[in-house]
Amino acid sequence: MKATGRGVACRERGSRGQSYIFNALTLSEKSLIASIREQARPGKKIVAGIGDDCAVLRIPAGHEALVTTDFSLEGMHFRREWHAPEVVGHRCLTRGLSDIAAMGGAPIAAFLSLALPRSLTRSWVERFLKGLLGLADSFGLTLAGGDTAESPNGVLVDIVVVGSVPRGKAIRRSGAKPGDRIYVSGGLGASAATLELLRLGKKLRAADYLQHFRPMPRVEVGRGLQEKGLASAMIDISDGLSTDLHHICSESEVGAEIRTAAIPLARIGKARRQVEMKFALHGGEDYELLFTAPRNKTVPKQIAGVATTEIGRITRRKHVVLIDEKGVRDLPAQGWQHFQRSE
Ligand code: ADP
Ligand code: MG
Repeated sequence: MKATGRGVACRERGSRGQSYIFNALTLSEKSLIASIREQARPGKKIVAGIGDDCAVLRIPAGHEALVTTDFSLEGMHFRREWHAPEVVGHRCLTRGLSDIAAMGGAPIAAFLSLALPRSLTRSWVERFLKGLLGLADSFGLTLAGGDTAESPNGVLVDIVVVGSVPRGKAIRRSGAKPGDRIYVSGGLGASAATLELLRLGKKLRAADYLQHFRPMPRVEVGRGLQEKGLASAMIDISDGLSTDLHHICSESEVGAEIRTAAIPLARIGKARRQVEMKFALHGGEDYELLFTAPRNKTVPKQIAGVATTEIGRITRRKHVVLIDEKGVRDLPAQGWQHFQRSE
């Protein structure tokens, strides 16, 4: 947004003292962007990054661009009293990287739109950036642009991640076929189980609950599956296994049978206690990958150091069901709705 346009927008809101707010914001916005620019790493695929009207990115020859955008909203995706600024920064980039992983792609650049309340301290923003850029660095990803504005209420973050994948090789949600086996990476339910503890007022040591506080997007796993041509369909588990499996099934026009006993339950806390099944089935923000593979393909037990577990199979009948010793029952899409249930 150009400065003139921003000024008009402020005057239109028109309460007393607005022009002061506008001036103050403009000053701090400039120095904030300068600081972000200093910290953002250059990258081989970045022709131009922060500082111009657009970033210029190099997409490798024979590849297609992947683009994803995700909100992280205070009160919805995080709470400042539960989540340290570094954790918010890390988790917000994980959302974008996990989408790139789910297509089997490699990330190139991130774009960060920030709306910040006036009351927020500079140190909160710097720590937020530290968390975000730390994760970006570990994937060789450049922060190549964004936007900065004042928020009337709460911290609002939108992250865009651009990646690439060899032409025609993106792993879509729509490719599952009857008979394909269904797999997940890692363990499920840690993030929602941790959130439940936070909601109960427990003070947690972040290092014992890393899957919630510092989830690692499964970029190498997704890329490995793509390079070996193993997966017929894939999605990242951001809304919960039940909901995300329904997404694959509806896009692929198939159904699924899941064996409850096969679902890998995550372990949390110092004692590495297994989480309850409800969190694994419906808990959001696990950022593991859910994928299908044709029956005749052998999926390694581990990819890039992460376990893969077969949990069921794709069916022609368009129902999603759970199978356990009690029999067969429907698995409705009951993906966990962030903070909403308890409020
Ligand atoms: P414009 O008016 O063209 O949108 P801005 O003043 O908003 O320009 O931004 C200047 C430069 O700083 C641009 O390259 C933009 O991408 C970058 N930028 C602005 N805000 C952020 C941010 N929060 N994170 C990263 N880059 C940012
Ligand atoms: Mg701008």
